[in-house]
Amino acid sequence: MADLRNEQITERSPVTVLGGVGKARAAYYAKLGIFTLGDLIAHYPRAYENRGDVRLLADARTDGKCAVILTVATEPKSVRLRSHKSFLKFRAFDDSGSCEITYFNQDYLKSRFPVGSVYRFFGKVERVGKRYAMTAPVAEAWTEHTPLPPFCAVYRMTEGLSGAQIAKDIAAARMLLEPISEDPLPIELREKRGLCTRAFAERNIHSPVDYHSLCTARKRLVYDEFFHFALGAAMTYKRAKAHGAPTCENGDITPLLRLLPYRLTRAQERAIADIRRDMACDVPMSRIVVGDVGCGKTVCAAAAMLIAVQNGRQAALMAPTEILARQHYEELSAQFSAMGYSCELLIGATTAAQKRRIKAALAEQDPQKRLQVVIGTHALLSDGVEFAAPGLVVTDEQHRFGARQRARLSEKNAHAHLLVMSATPIPRSLALVLYGDLELSKIDEMPPGRQRVDTFAVDESYRERLNRFIEKQVSEGGQVYIVCPAVEEEEAAPDEVTLSQIFEDGVKQEVRAPLKAAVQYAKDLESVFPNLGIGFLHGRMKSAEKDRVMQAFAQNEIQILVSTTVIEVGVNVPNASLMIVENAERFGLSQLHQLRGRVGRGSRKSYCVLVTADTGALGEKSLARLRTMRTVYDGYTIAEEDLTQRGPGDFLSTSADGAVRQSGGLSFRLADAGADVSLLTAATEDARAMLAEDAALNAYPLLKNRLDAVFSVEDGLIS
Ligand code: ADP
Ligand code: MG
Repeated sequence: MADLRNEQITERSPVTVLGGVGKARAAYYAKLGIFTLGDLIAHYPRAYENRGDVRLLADARTDGKCAVILTVATEPKSVRLRSHKSFLKFRAFDDSGSCEITYFNQDYLKSRFPVGSVYRFFGKVERVGKRYAMTAPVAEAWTEHTPLPPFCAVYRMTEGLSGAQIAKDIAAARMLLEPISEDPLPIELREKRGLCTRAFAERNIHSPVDYHSLCTARKRLVYDEFFHFALGAAMTYKRAKAHGAPTCENGDITPLLRLLPYRLTRAQERAIADIRRDMACDVPMSRIVVGDVGCGKTVCAAAAMLIAVQNGRQAALMAPTEILARQHYEELSAQFSAMGYSCELLIGATTAAQKRRIKAALAEQDPQKRLQVVIGTHALLSDGVEFAAPGLVVTDEQHRFGARQRARLSEKNAHAHLLVMSATPIPRSLALVLYGDLELSKIDEMPPGRQRVDTFAVDESYRERLNRFIEKQVSEGGQVYIVCPAVEEEEAAPDEVTLSQIFEDGVKQEVRAPLKAAVQYAKDLESVFPNLGIGFLHGRMKSAEKDRVMQAFAQNEIQILVSTTVIEVGVNVPNASLMIVENAERFGLSQLHQLRGRVGRGSRKSYCVLVTADTGALGEKSLARLRTMRTVYDGYTIAEEDLTQRGPGDFLSTSADGAVRQSGGLSFRLADAGADVSLLTAATEDARAMLAEDAALNAYPLLKNRLDAVFSVEDGLIS
C-alpha cells in the first residue's frame, strides 16, 4: 500500500484509493459525478454554515441555525433509558439567558464540558417559555484569543453519503495529494496577479480558517477556471491560417433571395458580403455573425451554405438543441430542396438505419449521389460522420456548446470554412475570451416593422389579473409561453450562506422567493384553465417527447407552453404573443432578453411579464435589474448591464438548462458565483500571452497535464 501511494497516486486516481472508500461508496460518488481524487477535491461546497453568525440566546435565529457562545453552568448529567439508549443534559448561559443542552447516546462527552468552560455551540435554538434549549449542537471550545473559523462547508449530497463523510473524504484526498502536487501555474503569474498557491486554495475553499482565506482561495480557483477556459478557447480557435480551404468563388444567392418573402436588411447584406469574400479565399473562414434575437441570422447562414453547395462542396449546420436543429431543418430543407439540393437532419433521435444512410451519403464519393446539406446537433461530431467534400460548417448559438465540442468541430474540419452565429450579445470585454480570433460581422439592424414587446414587472398580487390576461390573449388567438427556472438546483437553507452571497453582499442574507417548480405549476394551471391546451417542456425529457410538445405548440394545438429555459435559444413560433417569466429575479438580464425575444416574432402585439415574489421581500438590486428590462430593449446594453450586475458566469455557461455545468469538463464551478470581470480579463490576457510565446505549452508540462485532464471529459457527444 505504501509503495502504491508513493508511485501511483495522482489526482486521476479513483476515489477507491482512499481508506474506507469501497465499491459501494464509489458508486454513490459516481452519482455526484465524482470518480477521481481530483473530482473529489473539485467538489466545492455549495454553501457554508455561517458559524460566525454569533448571537445572544435572546436574539437567536428563529428560522434556522446560528451560533451562541455559552459558559457551562451545571455538570453534565447522563440519564439511561431502556434499550441501551441514554442522553446527556447540562445547562449553559450567556448574558441574555440560560439554555438546556442535550446530546443523545454520547456519554463520553460528559468530561468534555466541565463547569465554567466556554463553547461556541452551533445549532437551532429552541425557545421554551423564558428558557432556551439546544439539541445536539456542534460544540467548539472557545477562547478569547484564538478565533474559530466562521464558515463550515456544506456539500451537495446524495443518498448514502452524509456531508460529514464527504468532508472527511475530501480532507483525506487533500492529505494524499498535497505533498505530491506542484502548482501548475507559473510563480510569475501567481505573483503578478496576487494569487495564493493552488494547495492553499484547495485547503481553504473546503475548510476556510477565516473570511479572508476563503476570499483568497476563491480568487485563485476562479482565476484557474477562467485561465483554463481562456487557454482552451484560444487553442480551439487557433485555426491554421494555412491555405488549403476550398475556394468557393462562384456563388450566386439570387435563387435563395427569390424564395424569401422579404428583402434583406442592409446589415444582412453586409454580413453576407463578408461571408462571400471569406469563402472565396483558400484560407479557411473563421467568422462569427452576432446579432440580436430576431435580426435574421438564419438567412445569412443559408446564403453561406448555398455558396458552398454551388461550389460542389458540402455544408453542415450544427445547433445546440434538437428542437432548434429540427426547426432549422424545416425552414432550410424547404429552401434547399426548392433550389434542387439535398438536405437531411441528423440528431440523436434519428433512427440508427437513417443515421447509417446519412453517414454513407455524406461520405459518398460520387458528387451526383452525395448529400449536400446536413443539419443537426452535436450528433454531427460523432465518429463515423465524415464529409467527402467538406466546405462549410455553421454553428448556431455557438457559446452554448462545450469547449470540447468546439475543439472537436475544429479538429474534424480543419480546412472547412467556419461560420458561427450567436444571438447572445456579448459584452466587448468578453468577446475576446469567447470568440478568440474569430472575425466579426455584426447585424445591428432589425427587419422593418418589428414591434417592441411591452414589458412589465409584477408581483404575486397580480396573479388573478395575469390569469385573465392569459385568457384574453388565447381567446384572441394568441399563444403563451410560461418559463420557470430549472427545478433541480439545490437551494441553500436560510441559515446557510452561498459563495455569491459572501462575495456580493458580504455575509448579509438576501431573501429568496420560493421556486415555482415547473411540474407542479403546469398541473396547477390545468385546473385554472381547464379548457386550454397546456404543454410542458423541460430539459430532462426525452428528445422525441420534447419535439412532440414543441410541434404541438408550433401548430397551435396547445396554447400555453410551460417550460424551463430549454426554449431560450432560437425557437420560433410567430403566433406566440405573451411571455411570462416566473421567479424572474433568478434570471440574468440577457437570459430574460432572450426569452422576451421568443414573442413579437409575428404580427401580433406582444407582451412580456416578469413575475417576482412579493416585491417587498426582494432586494433593491433585484428590483433595479428587472426595472431595466422595462425600458431597455437593446441586447448589447442589456449584456453590459448584466455583466456589471451578475458577473460573467451567465455568458460562459455551456448549457441552456444549466445541466452540463455539473458534468465536469470546462464547467464553471465557482466562477458562477458572482465572479468579477477583471479576473476574467486578467486570466485571458495571461493565457494569450502564454500561448503567443509557447503555442504548445511545452515549457509548462504541469499546466498542459492539467488542461488535458480538464479537456478530456467528453461533454455528452451522441453517437
Ligand atoms: P435570428 O437572428 O434570431 O436567428 P431568424 O433568422 O430566426 O432570427 O429570423 C427571425 C424572423 O425574421 C424569421 O421569421 C425570418 O423569416 C424573418 N426575417 C429575417 N430577415 C428578414 C428581413 N430582412 N425582413 C423581414 N423578415 C425577416
Ligand atoms: Mg436563430
